[in-house]
Amino acid sequence: MSRFLQLVLDMFDGATTKALQGLGADKRPSPKKRQPRQPKRLKPQSLMGGLNRDANALPPAPVLHGPHMPSVPLGQVLPKAHYAHPRATRRIQLGTTDVAYAFRRGKRRTIGMAIGPDGLEVSAPRWVTLGEVESALHEKADWIARKLVEMQERQQQLGAARIVWADGVVLPYLGDQLQVVLDSSSTLKKNSAQFEPSEAGMHTLRLGLPLNAEPQQIRDAVQAWLMRQAKALFVERLNHYAPQLGVQWQRVSLSSAATRWGSASANGAIRLNWRLVHHKRDVIDYVVAHELSHLRVMDHSPRFWETVQSVMPDYAQLRRVLKDEPLPPWS
Ligand SMILES: [Zn+2]
Repeated sequence: MSRFLQLVLDMFDGATTKALQGLGADKRPSPKKRQPRQPKRLKPQSLMGGLNRDANALPPAPVLHGPHMPSVPLGQVLPKAHYAHPRATRRIQLGTTDVAYAFRRGKRRTIGMAIGPDGLEVSAPRWVTLGEVESALHEKADWIARKLVEMQERQQQLGAARIVWADGVVLPYLGDQLQVVLDSSSTLKKNSAQFEPSEAGMHTLRLGLPLNAEPQQIRDAVQAWLMRQAKALFVERLNHYAPQLGVQWQRVSLSSAATRWGSASANGAIRLNWRLVHHKRDVIDYVVAHELSHLRVMDHSPRFWETVQSVMPDYAQLRRVLKDEPLPPWS
């Protein structure tokens, strides 16, 4: 592969929240700290996502431990909580929150903390003592507790939204709703699908399957249909935006990556996540314009965003939809 061939991968936002804890020579009071008597407090630094993520990761409230407790300790507000990472090797009590976390040593300069769907993961340089790791965790106790609660709520929402593959299941489709109807009595061939649009935004996808079809059969038939729609729509929108951006794309393929909406390589190959078809057309257009813009600017520099904006003035709002509206897991 040519060393000039660049690939840009565009991530889903918000899947994992990370913080960095500075140590040793890096330890300086943050100019933005809100607790003047907590000199070791540092601003956690986001490792993921777009330009404005750092502000979201900043803990707004005082820490839970130490001599300067807030007037109403969070422990009186929050119920006692226990979080255990499935690969936990250590545990710590942070205020009222008992956290079992996955800990590993790595070749890094700082203590890293990440909160993902499994819980808290901590990594630290080999030369940092466990006592230092624990005091770093205490310093970030409020941030950790809050992110664990948020992650749990998010997982519960996703769980509640889990798709039950049966007759009548409703899915988001192009920002509308799509109801799946199993119908082996009509003239539909086995496994084939027929789309029946509705003015009211509740469309029907009639599948040539018996009512007692296996969930997996239903899912596969719906997925095959959605992927066909996605491919056709992506081609149409790529052809719409490419001339406006003065670029040429070579081929488009569908991805089903769990953490990526799309990617573009400098040779003109575009990959787009077929699950974008759940979103309304504007949002899909944003991702298409975003990937095509990478054929002009292969990074996320200000010049890149100007390029996106040249064809899509309200891109920021559409970008936010992708972050704020998680899709139910496809399983
Ligand atoms: Zn990008």
